[in-house]
Formats: sequence, C-alpha cells, structure tokens
Amino acid sequence: MSDKQEAAMTAPTTENGKPSVDFIRARIMDDNASGRFNGQVHTRFPPEPNGYLHLGHAKSICLNFGVAREFGGLCNLRFDDTNPTKEETEYVDSIREDVRWLGGDWGDREFYASNYFDKLYEYAEQLIKMGRAYVDDLSAEEIREYRGTLTTPGKESPWRNRSVEENLDLFRRMKAGEFPDGTHVLRAKIDMASPNIIMRDPTLYRIRHASHHRTGDKWCIYPMYDFTHCLSDSIEGITHSLCTLEFDNNRELYDWVLDTLGLYHPQQIEFARLGLTHTVLSKRKLIQLVKEGHVRGWDDPRMPTLSGLRRRGVPPEALREFCARIGVARTDSTVEYAMLEFCIRERLNAVAPRVMAVLDPIKVVIENYPEDQTESFEMPYHPEDASYGSRTVPFSRTLYIERDDFRLDPPKKFHRLAPGAEVRLRYAYFITCKDVVTDADGNVTELRCVYDPASKGGQSPDGRKVKGTIHWVSAAHAVPARVRLYEHLFSAENPNAMPEGQTFLDALNPDSLREIDAWLEPALATAPVGQTVQFERLGYFCKDKDSTDALPVYNRTATLRDSWAKQEKKG
Ligand code: ATP
Ligand code: MG
Repeated sequence: MSDKQEAAMTAPTTENGKPSVDFIRARIMDDNASGRFNGQVHTRFPPEPNGYLHLGHAKSICLNFGVAREFGGLCNLRFDDTNPTKEETEYVDSIREDVRWLGGDWGDREFYASNYFDKLYEYAEQLIKMGRAYVDDLSAEEIREYRGTLTTPGKESPWRNRSVEENLDLFRRMKAGEFPDGTHVLRAKIDMASPNIIMRDPTLYRIRHASHHRTGDKWCIYPMYDFTHCLSDSIEGITHSLCTLEFDNNRELYDWVLDTLGLYHPQQIEFARLGLTHTVLSKRKLIQLVKEGHVRGWDDPRMPTLSGLRRRGVPPEALREFCARIGVARTDSTVEYAMLEFCIRERLNAVAPRVMAVLDPIKVVIENYPEDQTESFEMPYHPEDASYGSRTVPFSRTLYIERDDFRLDPPKKFHRLAPGAEVRLRYAYFITCKDVVTDADGNVTELRCVYDPASKGGQSPDGRKVKGTIHWVSAAHAVPARVRLYEHLFSAENPNAMPEGQTFLDALNPDSLREIDAWLEPALATAPVGQTVQFERLGYFCKDKDSTDALPVYNRTATLRDSWAKQEKKG
C-alpha cells in the first residue's frame, strides 16, 4: 500500500479535511495514557461466515484494522463460526478475499472460534463446577416464557438447582451425543430478575447434531455467541473489542463470563451500524435476494456486497474514504447513497483512464473525407497525468456519435451538433452537419457532414470558435460491446421500513439493470477484466468477467453527474 492509501485508511477526516478523533479513538488514547493495556492495541474483525461481506462490514473492517494500524497495534481476522448449519467454506474464502481487497492485513493471525471449542468446553465445565451454570430441560418455548419481559421479572427453571454432579453428568452426556436437539441446554446461573433480560440465565450451549465446516462431526453441542465471543477475545489477547450498538446489553454478560472465570478482560465498545439509503445491509435479506434470484449472485454489481462493488468497478480506496468520512458514533444514522457515489467518483476521477465509447449511436458520414482513408490520432489516457500514457484512435469517413449529441431542433445554448452547426470531434476535426437522413417514421438515421481538414487534432485553424466538443468512434474500427447500466436496487429510500403488508422485496426497482449494445474505441478490446475507465462524458465503466473475446461486457460503475458535491457546497 502506498503512504497515501495508508493514510486514507487510517486517518479519519471530517468534511473540512481536518483529522478528527472519534469516541473510540479517544477511549483508546485514554487507555494508553493510563497504561491499562500496557499501551497495546489489539483489535479483531469477527465475521460470521454465513454470507458475503457488505458495506456495513467495510465500516467495521476500516475501523478495526484502521485503529490497530494507527496505534501501532494488530488486528486479527476471526471467523465467528459457532453455527454449523448456516456456515460454508465458500463464505470463508470470500471474506478473506474481501478483507484483503479492502486493505485489511491480519498477518498470520487468521483465527476461528471453532479452534477454541475444546477450551470453551473446559470453561463451561468450570462454570458448572463453580455452581454458575446448569443444564436445563425446558424447551426453547418454555425458556422464552420463563424469561419474563422488560417490565416483569423472569421465573426460575425447575432444573435450576441441580447438583454440580448431576449438571456435569448431563453436560458430558450432551457432548457425547446422548440427547436429541432441543432437549437440553447449558445455561449460566445469574439472575432471573435482572433488569437486563440478557442476564436472566442466558443459554451458553445448545445441542445441534450437525456437521461443522471445520470440526466435522466432532461436536454435537455448540457454544452460543455471547459465551464464545468474549472468550475468543480473551484467548487472543484482544484489548478493544469493537462491536455494533445492538450488543450494548450483551456487554454485561461479556464481562460476567470473563470475571466469573477470572480471565483476562478486553474492553467491549459499541458503535453505530452503518445504514445506507436505497440499500439493505442484512445478510439474511441479501441471502434472500441471491437465493430467490432477484439478483444474479452475491457479486451482482447492484449488490451492496464488497464483491458486488468490486465487480462494479469501485476501487477500495473509495470505500476507505467513504468509511473515513462517515466516521464512527454512538447513534444510528442513515447515510445517503449519494455520498458513497461521491467518494467513488472522486477516486475514479483521479485514477481512471479516459477512453471513448458511444452508448446510443447515430451514424455520421463525412462526405468530403476519402472513402478508403484511415488516420490515427494519439490521445492521452489522462488529461492531467502523462504517466498514464496514450493510445492511438483510428478515424475514418464513417463514425458513430451519441444520439443525444445531435438535435434536429436545438434549444438555445445547445452547442453540439444540429443542422448547419459546427462541432469539434474530440482530438480529431471540426465537422459541420450538412444534411439529415430520416426513415419513414421521421427518425434520424444518419447525419451527412463535412470536415475541415485544417482543424486537424481539433485545433481551430483560424481562431474561429467552436463551443461543443463531442466524443466519437470510427464505425469500421469500433468494438461492439454490451453495457450494463445500473440504478438503485431498491426504489424506496428505506426498503427496511416498508408500509404494512409489504416487504423489502416490494421495494425492488424493476429498472435497476438495463443492458444496451454499445461501440467502444478499439484499444478497449484488449483491456483487462476489472479495469475501470471513464467513457468520456458518460461515466465510469468497469470491464466485467462475463466479457468474451468477441463481446466485452462493461458495468457502469457511476455516472459523472454529482448531486452530492453540489449538496455539500450548499450545506
Ligand atoms: P448482518 O446483520 O448483516 O447479518 P452481522 O452483524 O450478523 O451482520 P457479522 O458477520 O456478525 O454480521 O459481522 C461481523 C462484524 O461486522 C461485526 O463486528 C459486526 O458488528 C460488523 N457489522 C455488521 N454489519 C454492520 C453494519 N451495518 N455496520 C457496521 N458494522 C457492521
Ligand atoms: Mg452476526
């Protein structure tokens, strides 16, 4: 990573560009000042491998890896794989790839909660021996009923006061596979009247006769999240365990488990989840979109998954900048999708090579240009950075230009092509429209033009001004391509809060994908898959993996229009 990239990942900036210290960094600085963790900072990113990572995870990745880097510490990648029925190796592989792509470096510290199953089991027996855990025979339904509500205390299970010996015996038999799913659980013995419902004898282990993607059939009991997470953090020597706000109430249990067992104790700190307009960021919903075929897979460029964004052509630097801009806070808020697009455009504007493509062609014949002649123009890939190099673009008598760049009946201040009007073809020549060919329905099918040979390179030969400059491709040389134009996947601003009787699926935008045939300048025939370029005047486009030698496929990453920048200036 370059210094600049590194800075983007680590230094949070406010909108006026000044560095800011959020409440998490402030707390770490306090801990460092007091010597609480001997000045160490060790975080972890703990995904459950039950889906692909999305933009919400990007926030957590940038925070955990960023904080570690800034304070000279470390960040682990830990797979929180305690649920055998929902987890798959495919997810593990994708998570690894996505974290690395975003710039997360976990060194050799790739861990799995399942690595700790033996240790966790020992800790559970220890709690039983201390009289702080018991085996309960109540059904899941009964446990729920006994738990009570926010306003009424819970009721103790009739099995709560079993002897240590009986609990140990039952727990060992649970482990040995003697009981079917759902017949017993191990619970912490805390306080059924606690004002914090999570502390009302939470379940620590349940029976699940299921194969695990890493431990196979070794286990038929699996530890719960609240038991596993704090112990995994403690085992790994994590200092600051950063998680999202919904775990606020779980912190008491996190502390209880570690304190009761007398173990090393990291500090859990909660921050607000990322919410984004026109987007769902819940794995459950994203899985549904994939499984029910509403999108073309996890990496569909309309998905808010990191693999989808990558395929769409979004550079990781743009996501890091986005995460730095949104910052971390303790109150939930929803970020405008336009802000993400702003970060994408800003980055691509700086780094994307410029090329020419015509998405909606209209034919131009240059009557005074020799039929059999072709010439080449050298064009830079980047207007401000010569290091991008250049390519040659062929020019000939028949061209395609954008249909939208011609008006039969131009409004005032329309500086592009119209009958009798003169326009500059980017880097090539001035042309004037002499005649218009229409079909039987009056649609324009061809423009008959003449060029000024003295305007070679697009330079005015005599000081006469031509206001409009348009892009073009040579019809005989252009490469046909398929271009996928994307809009929001959801029309509703908040698909998570639909009116009564509707689900987020009702918010799906039927026009989120439109495929069109387009013409590219020939240099793009050999462009690598995954390269994002700017089609001049049209937007940013990324070559898709569906491309073949005969037909390149391009995803529109972003348009050029930027409503967010305007909004920012106003605000
Ligand atoms: P989902 O609700 O999508 O299933 P999750 O929280 O269950 O998400 P995990 O795999 O457990 O998914 O998440 C790994 C880490 O990413 C956790 O630390 C979690 O807090 C964080 N994370 C998940 N979603 C978001 C989000 N929207 N904003 C910020 N952090 C998130
Ligand atoms: Mg989770």
